[in-house]
Amino acid sequence: MVELCSLFSGSSGNSTFIKAGNTNILVDCGESGSHVEAALKKIGVEPDSLDCIFITHEHIDHIKGAGILSRRYNLPIYASVGTWQKMIAKIGKISTDNIRYIQGGVPFGAFDSIVYPFSTPHDSCESLGFTIEHGGKRVSVATDIGVMNKTVYESIKSSDIVLLESNHDVDMLLHGPYSPELKRRVRSSVGHLSNEDCALTSTHLLEQGVKHLILGHLSLDNNTPSVAYATTEEALVMKGARIGYDITLEVASRYEPSAKYSL
Ligand SMILES: [Zn+2]
Ligand SMILES: [Zn+2]
Repeated sequence: MVELCSLFSGSSGNSTFIKAGNTNILVDCGESGSHVEAALKKIGVEPDSLDCIFITHEHIDHIKGAGILSRRYNLPIYASVGTWQKMIAKIGKISTDNIRYIQGGVPFGAFDSIVYPFSTPHDSCESLGFTIEHGGKRVSVATDIGVMNKTVYESIKSSDIVLLESNHDVDMLLHGPYSPELKRRVRSSVGHLSNEDCALTSTHLLEQGVKHLILGHLSLDNNTPSVAYATTEEALVMKGARIGYDITLEVASRYEPSAKYSL
């Protein structure tokens, strides 16, 4: 059995709970430790039942509470060498046993699950996304991706549940409050995935048989949940999908846990 629930998602903080068999995993821990603990309790998960934390990259919206939870519950943290180099000074002392190095493209076993980390195009040091498998079922988390490239797509396409970035509406970004430099950064091939690119990807994922799609990492200034939802919904419907039957679609909240998806 696999389960996925987004606890928080957005430029202010990201954390996703995944259960793969008996393994309880947090992908990113980008809110304070107490916020993440409260969100876990809200979905019926005791924080002391966590087994490990996977970190996508060193930006603060992904690591804020990681050190605190690792120390409090003696949790191993899995991240790339580059992420560890940038992250270690920001999350406080981590016991040597709990520092685990992983690499994009190199699968590893974590308790009773198989994890496929994959490289993501983002302006950080060796960032990753994750596909996690147990009992033939797969879930993926793919956010902070400047473009949907072959590596990312191939890594997520056979998943049953996908949390995919839908960061900004291109028009809202272009006409929004960001400086020209920041607009360039967000739009670049190492920035964030737009609603439009997310929608296009969703049509391919539909053809691949993805059952649950959750849109995440929305920008506060350059997107709204309804715009993100409508953009991908329209693309899926144009492909003949019946939302809720062929595929479910939800926008992960910035503040609240999403539905808990399980297969
Ligand atoms: Zn980032
Ligand atoms: Zn981020």
